[in-house]
Amino acid sequence: MRITLEELELHPIVVSKTYSPGALDYHGAEFHQVAPLQVNAVAELRGAEIQVRGRLGTSLEASCDRCLGSVVIPVERDFDLCYRPVSTMPRAEEVELPQDELEVGFFSGDGIEFDDVVTEQVILSMPMKVICKADCRGLCPVCGSNLNVEKCGCLPTAEISPFSSLKKS
Ligand SMILES: [Zn+2]
Ligand SMILES: [Zn+2]
Repeated sequence: MRITLEELELHPIVVSKTYSPGALDYHGAEFHQVAPLQVNAVAELRGAEIQVRGRLGTSLEASCDRCLGSVVIPVERDFDLCYRPVSTMPRAEEVELPQDELEVGFFSGDGIEFDDVVTEQVILSMPMKVICKADCRGLCPVCGSNLNVEKCGCLPTAEISPFSSLKKS
C-alpha cells in the first residue's frame, strides 16, 4: 500500500497489517519469514517530512553460521523513521548526519511504499550473527561432520582452527 502526501495532509494514516510468509520480497536475503508478520504503525506529516512509527513482529528462519542447521529467530522491532523529500538529500560532501538522525530516509514522488518500509525493517532486525545455541560446535573443518551430532575423530577439537581446512586441501 502507498502512503501519499495527499492523504497525509488530511490526517495521519494508521496501518494495521498482517503479511503472510512470501508476501514480502526480501531481495535475496539469507532468511525466510516463517510466521505471519504483524505490523502496527502510524504515518504523519511533519512539515515536509513523513514520520512513520510502529512495531512489527514475526519469526525468521536462517542457517546457523557454524553448523548450518536451521534456526528460528523471533523478531520484535520498534521503529521511528523519518522520510524527507529527495530534493533535500544532502550532497556527498555533507553526508555526515548527526547520530540521532541515522534513521532518515528519502522519498520521491507522491509518498512512500509502506511494504518497502516494512521489508527494510525486517532485514534490519536480523542479527549479524546467527548461532543455533551458544555452545554450537559447528562443522568439522576436515570432514564436514556436524560436531553437535557426531564426533568424527579427525582431530582433537583444540587443534582445529578455522583455517585448518584450507591447509589440508
Ligand atoms: Zn549451530
Ligand atoms: Zn571430521
